[in-house]
Amino acid sequence: MQIDSFTVLLFGLFIKLVLGALFVVFWRKNRDAPWFGWWSATLFLGSVTSILFMLRSGEGLVTLGIGNAALIAAFACCWQGARAFDRRRPLWAPVLVLPALWFAACCTPSFLTNVPYRIVLSSCLVAPMLAMAAVEFWRGRRERLPSRWPVIVIFASFAAFFATRIPMIGVLPFPFGAQPVQPGWLGAFNLIMFAHTILLSVLLVSMSKERLELDQRTKAQTDPLTGALNRRAFMSRGTRLLQRHAYERAPLCLLFLDLDHFKSLNDRFGHSGGDDVLTSFVGLVNVCIRPTDFLFRIGGEEFCCLLPHTTMEQAHRVAERIRHQFEMMTVDVAGTPVKATASLGIASTDAFGYQLDTLMRRADTAVYAAKRAGRNRVVVATADDSDTWGTVVPLRAAGA
Ligand code: GH3
Ligand code: MG
Ligand code: MG
Repeated sequence: MQIDSFTVLLFGLFIKLVLGALFVVFWRKNRDAPWFGWWSATLFLGSVTSILFMLRSGEGLVTLGIGNAALIAAFACCWQGARAFDRRRPLWAPVLVLPALWFAACCTPSFLTNVPYRIVLSSCLVAPMLAMAAVEFWRGRRERLPSRWPVIVIFASFAAFFATRIPMIGVLPFPFGAQPVQPGWLGAFNLIMFAHTILLSVLLVSMSKERLELDQRTKAQTDPLTGALNRRAFMSRGTRLLQRHAYERAPLCLLFLDLDHFKSLNDRFGHSGGDDVLTSFVGLVNVCIRPTDFLFRIGGEEFCCLLPHTTMEQAHRVAERIRHQFEMMTVDVAGTPVKATASLGIASTDAFGYQLDTLMRRADTAVYAAKRAGRNRVVVATADDSDTWGTVVPLRAAGA
């Protein structure tokens, strides 16, 4: 089958212009997303290359010098878009210097007319930039966006495609190598470029959309004051975590943490002083727990920690560390040193099974016991608590 290079170029130009305009609209709508600006520049610069190659034959300073310089600048912008996507500062030097370097080389007739030289230099400029785009996306992999993985693979394979032009110089027809052009090869090359343009554009939009959704989901599950997960997250993550632990028959502990005399703290230092104490408490707990543990703000000055794969003894050590370190901590409230304490209750799946509400109720009961025993302490919920504290709700309601 013959692939008409001009038709592919024309169709590719149309798609690049449409996608470039679309990216400008996305960028204008969302100024927090500068990567759309970079990627629209990529598509428009790529369009300049297509136009120059369509208007003129494949030779000459305008086509080879300016057309390919625009393409090199396009790849540089694409790389900077990848940096911007992962909140890194874009680098202007590659965008300006590398196309200028290419154009300067093309001003030398011996370079301009030598196909192998041109392939070596263009591949040496383009392949590392595409590889760097793959690296930038790889570096941001902690942010779980499903489209990130195909994007990394496509950028890496695109880089490999340009790099293999160098060993293919003596083997394949131009533009895959430097052998005389054969029908179809130029069209196939343009088709590969065209397919990558479409595929990457779709995936980049999809990745941006996934980030937006992830941000919204995170916001919906985060307490705005302290940054801890909220009650909604507690219910959904807690249920899922317990189901998994029940399946594995693995131990999990739930800590219930309640700040002592917080109301009076608010009364003495104001609501914003109380907020400072809450925020400092969350900071401290986050340091005391493992990265795999979860801290939730359940309400006012009440928090829960879920400690996966943790026995009661281990959980007790964590709770005691939190209690002790909080007792030792001084919070600066507008220049005034403020001290506070917390009471903690622990319930384990070993004692109470894998129901989230049961664990929570038992840990809450243990906190209540800690309050009654004088506050600033850790109490472990035991199976026979129900005899003593089973009526905890009425007791509390009675103001005991
Ligand atoms: P106890 O030692 O028995 O736990 O007593 P407490 O005062 O800590 O408990 P209580 O439930 O009586 O009071 C909780 C207070 O927490 C009441 C409420 O005004 C305050 N509170 C709830 N949410 C916030 C908040 O977001 N910021 C501040 N500063 N205070 C809050
Ligand atoms: Mg309290
Ligand atoms: Mg409370």
